[in-house]
Amino acid sequence: MGAIIDGKQLSLRLKGEMADEVKALDAKYGRVPSLAVILVGENPASQSYVRGKIKAAEEVGIKSELITMPADTTEEVLLAEIDRLNADKDIDGVLVQLPLPKHIDEERVIDAIAFEKDVDGFHPANVANLWLGKPCIVPCTPKGVMQMIAECGFSVAGKKAVVVGRSNIVGKPMVKLLLDANATVTIAHSRTQNLAEVCREADILVAAVGRKHLITADMVKPGAIVIDVGVNRDPETGKLCGDVDTASAKEVASFITPVPGGVGPMTITMLMKNTIECYLNRINK
Ligand code: NDP
Repeated sequence: MGAIIDGKQLSLRLKGEMADEVKALDAKYGRVPSLAVILVGENPASQSYVRGKIKAAEEVGIKSELITMPADTTEEVLLAEIDRLNADKDIDGVLVQLPLPKHIDEERVIDAIAFEKDVDGFHPANVANLWLGKPCIVPCTPKGVMQMIAECGFSVAGKKAVVVGRSNIVGKPMVKLLLDANATVTIAHSRTQNLAEVCREADILVAAVGRKHLITADMVKPGAIVIDVGVNRDPETGKLCGDVDTASAKEVASFITPVPGGVGPMTITMLMKNTIECYLNRINK
């Protein structure tokens, strides 16, 4: 039976290490890193994610500012707020919680964040630099996944990795990070034929789809590492579940991440890492 990669526990350890680092940075530079989070509207899931981010910042000693704006906020007002935060020399990281209300152009908003304060790593300049192999802010979820794989002591080089899902925020950057770690990577999506066969090839299988239990035990190669990024609400129980049928897949995998308590906490923890990185980049500029 495979071992569970406990994202919550790993996050606690990393946040503890970062708290020490922040104290040392404060002593050296006279201020702590700071993060501004903008939340537009009252989407309950977004409110919960934002609460988690602010709480993690507190735990690490990062100064945080939560800016809530009503759902009918115009794009111009939101862009003006981003401009203000971009210009504020005491703010290191700016994050706009997605999704945004339909009347706001998300792409325009992401583009408006100063790329050196783009703690999510979604700005085109960061995306380009990631793919060019230049210094950049790496998106939090795939960055957290790489930490979890490293934690297993699993050597990625030369292994076959399959990423299911090709979004800009998870699937695509995940592919690049695995490639950088010298895996041979396949990316699968809704049009992939014989998904089960493709997945069975994987030594490292990352599911980032958003479909409850799409990945079943028969799709997992014996001994594979299985990373479940998906966050779904089980319609029957109302509980959170992933894209992987963990109960059966863990019998086949060597390591597997749970949902909840797997990739989710690591994503937030990597946001803290990115905020410290933006702070250091700005100080050393
Ligand atoms: P998107 O909806 O943007 O992308 C989903 C991807 O899955 C698409 O590429 C889509 O293919 C693919 N897909 C859909 N159906 C199938 C199928 N039947 N077989 C194979 N591929 C399929 O989602 P995100 O990347 O934003 O998020 C994915 C999941 O991860 C969600 O559950 C989300 O909640 C979760 N998530 C979790 C985070 C965390 O911290 N734990 C952070 C971010 C996301 P196509 O491109 O062809 O449409």
